[in-house]
Amino acid sequence: MQLADAVGKIVARPVFAPLSLPPFSASAMDGYALRKADLVANPSATFNVVGESLAGHPYSGPVGSYECVRVFTGALVATDCDQVVVQEQSIIQAPAEVVFNGELPLESYIRGIGHDIVKGAMLVDKGQRLNAFDAGHLAAAGVTRICAHKPVRVGVFSTGDELVEPGTPPEDLQLGQIYDSNRFTVSSLLANAPCQITNYGCLADNAEHVITALQRASTECDVLITSGGVSVGDADFVTNAIEALGTLGFWRLNLKPGKPLAFAQIGNSYLFGLPGNPVSTIVTLLMVAMPAIAYLGGQQPQPPLAVEARLTTPITHTPGRMEFQRGIYTVAAEGLSVAVTGDQGSNRLSTFHGANCFIEIDKNSGSLPAGSRVRVLPFNGLLA
Ligand code: AMP
Ligand code: MG
Repeated sequence: MQLADAVGKIVARPVFAPLSLPPFSASAMDGYALRKADLVANPSATFNVVGESLAGHPYSGPVGSYECVRVFTGALVATDCDQVVVQEQSIIQAPAEVVFNGELPLESYIRGIGHDIVKGAMLVDKGQRLNAFDAGHLAAAGVTRICAHKPVRVGVFSTGDELVEPGTPPEDLQLGQIYDSNRFTVSSLLANAPCQITNYGCLADNAEHVITALQRASTECDVLITSGGVSVGDADFVTNAIEALGTLGFWRLNLKPGKPLAFAQIGNSYLFGLPGNPVSTIVTLLMVAMPAIAYLGGQQPQPPLAVEARLTTPITHTPGRMEFQRGIYTVAAEGLSVAVTGDQGSNRLSTFHGANCFIEIDKNSGSLPAGSRVRVLPFNGLLA
């Protein structure tokens, strides 16, 4: 596919540099190119200027002893020359004569062939997500077509009779109704991932309805993401639909929040039945479904960025499940510190207010006093 279309996609085949960069010896500064031995022998000698080399207008002729070429950044340095003296060290004596200030330059100020990349070296590897820097490097090497994976097709559902489309005026909400927020968070969190999202709307709590919708979507998508309906209540129709349509991979993880998570295969597609509580939906999407989508899209799985921080507020935790609490980390001279964002109910989206990380609490850990060292997963490292 065209390079411009491939940015953000997963590289399917490595690309090797078809030429060295720079492809010729180039000056790194504005100045004069000459033979270093001449300058070493006589630093205050006069040099005759025999040509001018500008970027795109090379001087490639011979350069003899005590001769030099006026050069500019990015311009060819003739093969006879092995030194550029920066113009700040030069004194023009006559139109074609120059002397230098007697100091020997500290470096050559020449970018040799392959200084950036050597012909045949790998520019991008398969499994990596092509970013703007890679695109620049490929363009610099003249590459405009690359082989990239197709985005994973992800279908997003919410489930529940209580859910109403956001935008409905609050006064029109019936008793017991709430707005459907999960489809917004799921779609927004996936917006930058290498996938193509189809919004399938909200499914009513009706067995037949859920089965029909998931079956149809399984023929259109690689991954289905539902939220809600995976607990053990009477209205938990996603688990029923999995029984009717596919094969259950696992159901319930030792995770807080997010325990009811279900994973299944329906036809050729994978279903992530995320729990309905909005915080559980987010945690299971970020920690389980998104890495899986990345893997299905050809990316190499990578553990999320984790750093250690000093806890400034106590954490309540009973041993049993691994927990991800929402936190705010701050960087100070003495290191990172992190505070919990208040009561951590799995329904409370407000625990994400101001949060910039998860605080990971080991399943065997008890409550942690302020001052404890904890593992922190910055959101930056988890988002696509
Ligand atoms: P469930 O597992 O379907 O019983 O859902 C658990 C909780 O999450 C219930 O309080 C639901 O109302 C809530 N919930 C489920 N889906 C959503 C959604 N899409 N947006 C907001 N809340 C939801
Ligand atoms: Mg429900």
